Amino acid sequence: MSNTPRPPRSEAPVSAGPRRKTPAPRWHVVYSLLALFDVLVVGTGLVYINRIVQSYNHSVTTSRVWMTREGQISTLEDAASGVMAPANQVFGSLDTQRANQALGVAVDGFTTRAEILRADLVGLAGHSLVQLLDDLSAAESSVDTMRVASGQVIAAVGRDDFKAAVSGMVAVDADQRNLTDNLAALRADMQAAQTQVFDRQQHDIASLQRFEYLIEGLFLLMVLAATIYGSRLRSEFERRTDERERHVRELEATQAELTEARNVLEERVVARTEELAAANAALRDEIEERRRAEADLRLSEERYALAAHSANDGLWDWDLRTNQFYSSPRWRALLGYGDGELSGGVNEWLDRVHPDDRVNLQIRIGTHLQDPSSPLEVEHRVLHRDGEYRWMLVRATAVTDDKAQPVRMVGSHADVSARKNAELALLHVAMHDTLTGLPNRACFMAHLDTVLRDFKASGGSRFAVLFVDLDRFKVVNDSLGHTVGDELLSEVARRITSVVRPGDMVARLGGDEFTVLVEHLGSDDNAYAVAERVLAALGEPAHLDGYEVRANASIGVAFVKADYTTPAEILRDADTAMYQAKSDGRGLYRVFEPSMYDTALDNLVLESELSIAVEREQFRVLYQPVVALADGGVVGLEALVRWQHPTRGLISPATFVAIAEGTGDIVPLGRWVLEQAAAQATMWRQRPGSEQLFVSVNVSPRELWQHDFPDYVAALLSRHGLAAGALRLEVPEASLMRHRDETVATLRRLRVMGVGVSIDDFGTAPGDPNYVADLPVDAIKLDRSVVAPLGATSADTSLAAALVGVGRGSNLAVVAEGVETLEQQAALVALGCPFGQGYRFYEPLTSAEIDGVLANAGSKITG
Ligand code: C2E
Ligand code: CA
Ligand code: CA
Repeated sequence: MSNTPRPPRSEAPVSAGPRRKTPAPRWHVVYSLLALFDVLVVGTGLVYINRIVQSYNHSVTTSRVWMTREGQISTLEDAASGVMAPANQVFGSLDTQRANQALGVAVDGFTTRAEILRADLVGLAGHSLVQLLDDLSAAESSVDTMRVASGQVIAAVGRDDFKAAVSGMVAVDADQRNLTDNLAALRADMQAAQTQVFDRQQHDIASLQRFEYLIEGLFLLMVLAATIYGSRLRSEFERRTDERERHVRELEATQAELTEARNVLEERVVARTEELAAANAALRDEIEERRRAEADLRLSEERYALAAHSANDGLWDWDLRTNQFYSSPRWRALLGYGDGELSGGVNEWLDRVHPDDRVNLQIRIGTHLQDPSSPLEVEHRVLHRDGEYRWMLVRATAVTDDKAQPVRMVGSHADVSARKNAELALLHVAMHDTLTGLPNRACFMAHLDTVLRDFKASGGSRFAVLFVDLDRFKVVNDSLGHTVGDELLSEVARRITSVVRPGDMVARLGGDEFTVLVEHLGSDDNAYAVAERVLAALGEPAHLDGYEVRANASIGVAFVKADYTTPAEILRDADTAMYQAKSDGRGLYRVFEPSMYDTALDNLVLESELSIAVEREQFRVLYQPVVALADGGVVGLEALVRWQHPTRGLISPATFVAIAEGTGDIVPLGRWVLEQAAAQATMWRQRPGSEQLFVSVNVSPRELWQHDFPDYVAALLSRHGLAAGALRLEVPEASLMRHRDETVATLRRLRVMGVGVSIDDFGTAPGDPNYVADLPVDAIKLDRSVVAPLGATSADTSLAAALVGVGRGSNLAVVAEGVETLEQQAALVALGCPFGQGYRFYEPLTSAEIDGVLANAGSKITG
């Protein structure tokens, strides 16, 4: 057993570090609960005892009332009336007045006593039994008093009367005795009742006491249990507190050990670090030593390589500290000098460097001296004694001192002029167009890039790009052959170059596309002037290989703007403006505006979507009736295609047909329209009265140029069982201008099959319209621009009249397009034009709507 005193429990244990907090003991709660339980038990016992006492009191009261009601009252009343009846008899025979007096006194006394008794008996509840017995004795003595009083009465009334009264008195006496007996019986009764009540009380008290013992025993038992349990809890609490304190002491010990261990460790780390640092320093020195050795080695290796390589090279050694420059005889020979002819000094070399190369060379030497890790290699031109520059390749390397400072430079020069010139020639070829000798696209773009950079960097001068595209070069190439085409391109190059200002670059981008970079613009007008001069120069006919050829061009102009970031953007905008010039009528120039770009972009988007649309058949065909102008009867229907675009809705052919022609999508699209139209025509012609109806389908030149087009049409007709005469193909007048012979041959084959051919947009081509007489066609369609002026009061009808005349003279059916008013209709009838179509009659309608039109007007249809 240890006799070291335990530290007081309340003291906080000493601790160096943070400790986990022990939870507060909950014993006081247990004690409180036990005390509460005790109080509850005792309180309940007391309340119960009180209730038993109350019940005991109640039973005593009840027994008294019972005695009073059942016994005494009735007995006493009987006794009183028993006494009074004989007395009344006695006193009835006496001197009434005196007797009444005496009796009155007696009766009063008796009554008073009886009443007192009676009152006492009634009020028994409030009195004790002892009192009751006293009262009964008093009543007895009052009976004795009454007996005395009656003796006095006898004395007062006289003898005779008294005799009579004596017998009465005897009776009274008997009665009195009776009464006394009664009272004795009453007393016995009372005593019996008292005994009974007393017994009950005893019994109740005994049971009460038993109960009290029980409660007390229980209470003691509980207190005992609580005490035992409490002491057990307390000892458990003490045990745990001890345990916790022991843990804390153990922890503190461990912590102290740890701190010590850490200190030891730290000391060791410090020692080790010092050791390592020393080792490191040694290593660093060694590495440095090796690096130096390596550098020396490399230098001597490089020198050796240089020497080996430079059998033909001029060698030099330049001391950077003294600026002494040693050069080999071969080095001097490379520059055209003999031994001893150059005095020495590095300027013998540097002063002879071409001014364009000097800055670059200086920069490269400076960079190499700052970081000599990789050798210097620079190509530059050096002036030869003969006054020409020679391309030299200098290879050199710097030698550093032990502080890594460059102190010397050794190097060689090799004459690379032959290779360099060949390279430059190649570069020229790569940058120029072989046909015209003009800079090519790559060269132009590189130059444009430089100019744009200058403009953006230094706010350099304003410039513009002209995009020149020949208007009908393809026609020349196709019809007159490539040789003439090439000659024309060379001529165009010469003419453009002759009208631009000196310094402006003319380039050929490819094909028939040229560009002019107009620099140093004083005002925008300078650029316009150049564009106009180019147009004028190209407008002059050229005589090539015996042909007179005109090379009209369209020009797009784009001025430089600050927000251009690449040269390609400027070129794109000039190109866009050029397209606008083309669609505005060719042979002119247009200046780029952003809206043009939107249109171009729009077309580009449509272009990319078009082939998918064709694949998915996102189109529908409307039909515009062709009527007899005389009576409005429907004779035929023109198929007009629409693009049912998934997001843009219906798109007019005016927007997409030209694009489809450009991409070639017009071929499958045209065949799809032909398919629809043939199917509809077959159906409509089965209606009674519509047997002669024809369907017109517009055909683009590109479709006609498909070699299998007539075969395709033949197959189409037989597939649908459609008569050839039911189909008319509309060929735009303009399409007859190119590949005329082939086109005519195709039309002829179609007509042999019986298919009708119309010339569409007739009257839009310049020149003599009589050319149609020789063409294999059936009908002409007067263009809307011819019809539009008709009907106005002072209208010039001569063109319409002439064209109708040409048609009739050549035996062709004449159809007037775009008839919108009654006046136009009347004028056309007056001119002898038999057929027409236009909003005056019908707009283009769906096939279902045409069903309705045919049902209503079927009878009017004429052949
Ligand atoms: P187009 O062959 O000259 O067709 C007549 C155009 O004039 C139609 O325009 C028609 O809707 C419109 N038009 C008809 N009556 C009147 C009128 O009274 N007043 C006015 N202002 N216009 C009228 P749409 O349908 O927009 O077609 C335009 C052009 O697209 C056609 O001109 C045709 O050259 C071409 N096109 C239409 N469908 C096809 C096709 O399936 N294939 C090819 N290759 N071209 C087609
Ligand atoms: Ca047409
Ligand atoms: Ca037309």
